[in-house]
Amino acid sequence: MGAHNHADLAVHIGHRIECATYGDDIEPANVAVECIDCSVVLRDADRPGDEAPDDPTPSGYWNLLDHAGHWLACISRPSARTVAVSCRRCGLDLLAFARATD
Ligand SMILES: [Zn+2]
Ligand SMILES: [Zn+2]
Repeated sequence: MGAHNHADLAVHIGHRIECATYGDDIEPANVAVECIDCSVVLRDADRPGDEAPDDPTPSGYWNLLDHAGHWLACISRPSARTVAVSCRRCGLDLLAFARATD
């Protein structure tokens, strides 16, 4: 499940993407980047704990939580050969994949 490469994510260019939380309002158990149009989770992260160490990348729990409730956009950047999920409010990329060179 989820988007793990350029091809996985490119399917969702132009779709409505949001950052949703599940569980407690203050410290949700799970944060997910979801495509509304396709009803799929592109990336999610569980709250770090004893069994789930913190992930410091932009798609880790604490970084994703910063964007809870924000609208995201899946955009193509042809000049950089990448497709990215970017937060419309914060102007930050949550996910980005470069197209594989062949
Ligand atoms: Zn989609
Ligand atoms: Zn944001």
